[in-house]
Amino acid sequence: MASWGGRRHLSHFLLGLILVLCSVGCSQPPSLEDSRFNVALVVLDAARADHLGSYEYTRDTTPNADEFASVATRYDSVISEAPFTFLATSSLFTAGSPAVTGLVGRTGGIVPASLELIAETAKENGFGTYAYSENPYVTGYFGLDQGFEVFEETFPVSLLMRGEEIDPQFDSAGQLTAILKKAAGDKSRPFFLYVHLLRPHNPYAPPSPYAGRFGSSPESRPEGESKPLIALHSKGGPYEQDRLDSIVQLYDENLAYGDALFGGLLAELEERGLRKKTIVILTSDHGEALGDHDRILHSNQVYDSMLRVPLIISVPGEGPSVESVSIQLADLGRGLRRYFRGEDGAVAGLTRIGFDQPTGRTLYSWTNAKTHLVAARTNKRKLIVDARTSGVVGYYDLLADPGESVSGPLDEEGKALLSGLLEKIRAWAGLKVRIEPAMEIDTEKRRQLEALGYVDPEEGEQTENPRPKSDESAP
Ligand SMILES: [Zn+2]
Repeated sequence: MASWGGRRHLSHFLLGLILVLCSVGCSQPPSLEDSRFNVALVVLDAARADHLGSYEYTRDTTPNADEFASVATRYDSVISEAPFTFLATSSLFTAGSPAVTGLVGRTGGIVPASLELIAETAKENGFGTYAYSENPYVTGYFGLDQGFEVFEETFPVSLLMRGEEIDPQFDSAGQLTAILKKAAGDKSRPFFLYVHLLRPHNPYAPPSPYAGRFGSSPESRPEGESKPLIALHSKGGPYEQDRLDSIVQLYDENLAYGDALFGGLLAELEERGLRKKTIVILTSDHGEALGDHDRILHSNQVYDSMLRVPLIISVPGEGPSVESVSIQLADLGRGLRRYFRGEDGAVAGLTRIGFDQPTGRTLYSWTNAKTHLVAARTNKRKLIVDARTSGVVGYYDLLADPGESVSGPLDEEGKALLSGLLEKIRAWAGLKVRIEPAMEIDTEKRRQLEALGYVDPEEGEQTENPRPKSDESAP
């Protein structure tokens, strides 16, 4: 595929020539349409990859995403940097892992202005930048609006601080139409549109006609509200199978609703004649435990159930493919940054994310929510360490045990993973000075937010990143 960078330079030259000629003969300078593709990046919050049909789920939860995947590039092994929104999304936006940015968890950090976010790169390179977010952690309060000219927040932090949740009947479809209209309204330049939909995140409260699609009943639906889910999350498993079945039904129905919203956005792009001019990306920020490892919801484990997310990218002119290379959200951020900068091969590069990385490289995931766990992962092995003590929590053979159920002793590969992991933790800890003050929450508000699962009871006690015991003098 030809580089659009070259075409862009030619376009700019022609535009300049026309403007010069017009300065002596035209009353109105003509507009020359920018030939670069738009980017529409859609996040379904807490969508675990293996609950999408295109990732071999048995229920028909995501017909729109599946049809989209049939003509796009589907990445099969995408591991989020964190099992909760703020750290995962900031890794995507900064195109860097927490070991590089020094960012920590939810109420523990705000993205500093010194970091360059992908929306800033887009804006600097002439893209219109628009965002629509339904998650209170993807808001201006946490510094994630940097670079966006328009940033619509459905669930502002003020609502969160009052201990309230988003209204499940909220008109997400109407908001999507509105933001797309704004983005598409400026025809003089391409747009970068970021859409962060809350579904299937809790509360699992699917509206009609999705409620009941996979067997939930009026009697079982209260089980999908946040408070009972959080109570189960805090208590830990094992859970009764009937209860879990109901919860999974409601999660899947909520996911089907999120998928329908995504389908609606695709249809709107088509109607506006923009589908062939737009790179469309569907992903999630993190997964969701649904009884896996005796947990439900997310935030406090680094098993794949809370980390593995879908990633499907459609680039106009590129054929469908399935890629097995293991990548993270920061890799997607880097690919987008290269695209916005107009680097050679960056368009096609979005269907080959991670191909420039060493084979078998190690991926890292972090949580300081309650557990302070950090995971190092290759395609074959996974090591989980408690960052406060440097103690090994689990070591898994992913080829023989993809469910990470049986921990074994460290072999040579495990020891190498441990050494690399401790180095990352030291780098992470050494960057804490870059973190700006955290969200201040009084006791009563904290109690409300804990009940809704938006902060964790122990998180507020953390004032700095943990340091490994093995080297207290580390930077
Ligand atoms: Zn999230």
